[in-house]
Amino acid sequence: MMDQYRTVRERMVEEQIVRRGITDKGLIAALLAVPRHFFVDDAMGGRAYGDHPLPIGAGQTISQPYIVACMTEALELHGTETVLEIGTGSGYQAAVLSRLCAQVYSVERMNSLLAGARKNFDKLRYYNIRSKLDDGTLGWPECGPYDAIIVTAGGPEIPELLIDQLADPGRLVIPVGDQHEQELQLLVKNNGQVDVTHLARVRFVDLVGEYGWDD
Ligand code: SAH
Repeated sequence: MMDQYRTVRERMVEEQIVRRGITDKGLIAALLAVPRHFFVDDAMGGRAYGDHPLPIGAGQTISQPYIVACMTEALELHGTETVLEIGTGSGYQAAVLSRLCAQVYSVERMNSLLAGARKNFDKLRYYNIRSKLDDGTLGWPECGPYDAIIVTAGGPEIPELLIDQLADPGRLVIPVGDQHEQELQLLVKNNGQVDVTHLARVRFVDLVGEYGWDD
């Protein structure tokens, strides 16, 4: 694969990821491998590797690289897991996950974004990602339970159906709060018990759906 951004990507990982304390070797390798510029408009070019979120169309954004790293690290993947993502968006987060687990299921509610993400999954041959157009606050019950669930849009609460579809043991990350600011929450299910911890203050686009915000 022709990759004129390899050096820029290496710098992104060094300055934004490793220097800020991310140590998971598999995650670092995945961030070095996935060509983030594929997932944003051509016109953005090298800005794809900047230390910030970027617009991906339809009023949505691809998260800042460090936030992708934090959320992924919190899932503690080892390669065998089945992971559910809500909010496919550009497909970048799903691509990173696909290198760290066995199977990714990703749900997106906007057709134009899903179509773009799927094109990239094909082009890059990420064949262990299945995606569908739907309201992800309902999860994807037929394919669960999931060892890990990642919600990449902010909702008013953790959708109950997602907790139901989480395996035991299982880990779920989601931004929860109002429409301006959220807490990144980590829910850990273990021996029938559920514990929630707070990871960071974040700003995500709205989780819109039956168990999210109104359209
Ligand atoms: N993970 C994405 C981030 C995209 S931003 C990436 O790596 O690029 C969040 C996405 O969540 C948007 O594309 C938005 O359309 C989607 N979304 C919001 N509510 C949703 C819902 N209920 N179900 C599925 N997708 C949803």
